[in-house]
Amino acid sequence: MDNIIVQKYGGTSVGDTNKIKRVADRIIKAKEQGNNMVVIVSAMGHTTDELVKLAMEIMPAPSGREFDALISTGETVSASLLAMALHQQGYEAISLTGRQAGVYTEDVHNKAKILDVKPERILEELTLGKVVIVTGFQGVNSQDDTTTIGRGGSDTSAVVIAAAIKATVCEIYTDVDGVYTANPSLIKNAKKHKVISYDEMLEMASLGAQVLHPRAVEGAKAYGLEIHVRSSYNFSEGTIVKEVSKMEIKNPVTGIAYDENVAKIAILELPDVPGIAGQLFTKLADAKINVDMIIQSNQVDSHNDIAFTVSRDDLIKALEITKEYAKSIKASNVVHDNNVSKISIIGVGMMSSPGVAARMFSMLGGNGINIDSITTSEIKVSCIINSKDTEKAVRLLHDGFELEK
Ligand code: ASP
Ligand code: MG
Repeated sequence: MDNIIVQKYGGTSVGDTNKIKRVADRIIKAKEQGNNMVVIVSAMGHTTDELVKLAMEIMPAPSGREFDALISTGETVSASLLAMALHQQGYEAISLTGRQAGVYTEDVHNKAKILDVKPERILEELTLGKVVIVTGFQGVNSQDDTTTIGRGGSDTSAVVIAAAIKATVCEIYTDVDGVYTANPSLIKNAKKHKVISYDEMLEMASLGAQVLHPRAVEGAKAYGLEIHVRSSYNFSEGTIVKEVSKMEIKNPVTGIAYDENVAKIAILELPDVPGIAGQLFTKLADAKINVDMIIQSNQVDSHNDIAFTVSRDDLIKALEITKEYAKSIKASNVVHDNNVSKISIIGVGMMSSPGVAARMFSMLGGNGINIDSITTSEIKVSCIINSKDTEKAVRLLHDGFELEK
């Protein structure tokens, strides 16, 4: 089928019934232009958080199955309300759950990966002329149970579904009108990118820019699907995420990202024998804890220190596992720090211009900001700093690398 547009609306865009009616108007506009419309929705506003809170009031560690059954309902609500809003305007529309839409996931609860989308039902409903609305964030596993794919997952739902039905474009509607050189609510002269490469967007998203979920960018890159990030409050063009040739890149740094959802754990004086790091990080991985930066220091007297960062939500669990492991191998101590954040510069052009990292460190150091740890890849440099310096650091780097130009 030709001319399929996938639109995804985030929680703020469907935050109340008036907003849902406005979303319906926007869908109708695109439909009237001759497009076949598939719409993915998030839960209204903070619904998912509230559902999580309800579960926690009952028990701290509910069964994965019941937890997913609960927190997936937010999307079901917004999908059916949006279908009604379209009916009210005289348009045919149908809401589908992840299961009905053929979104198959692993047999894991809470953070299941999508394995396959069988798009027959979606395509069938499109053929009948309907607007098809699909709940984001949820799928079904081989046990026929509802699963969810991780917080913020509906961007990924949209991308995977768009790829499966060969949509022309996947539009992600949010409360900002595109991807900026830095968070525009913090940096007033931040500039909106017209186009950004998958790789830079992936770094921006992974390093804390909230506009798009990193897994969604990964998926889009894998399928070669263009994403258009735009605002649901206006009709201006947002940012296109696609493959960009290196020739078009001028500034070595194209974005500053920061992440305050960071906690650092250090395990001190581990015995310096083979296999230790492998054991520790396997245990963390088995508990589905994403470890971000890892630093192992030089050994002193055949001992090592290892420090790593995790997201703050995972801190308690990660600490528990690390402490238990530390005890079993007779490490001297485990310490942690919640008051840290990660600040990053990103740019594909960095690969071919030496000295970019040094400039970053000098800008921070020269302004009294202490750098705790550093990691780099070909296209990004990240530093862990004290949380209280985050805003100042973003400003300094945005000015220093002249991103407003
Ligand atoms: N409603 C889910 C969440 O809040 C999924 C999403 O919004 O993308 O995490
Ligand atoms: Mg979201």
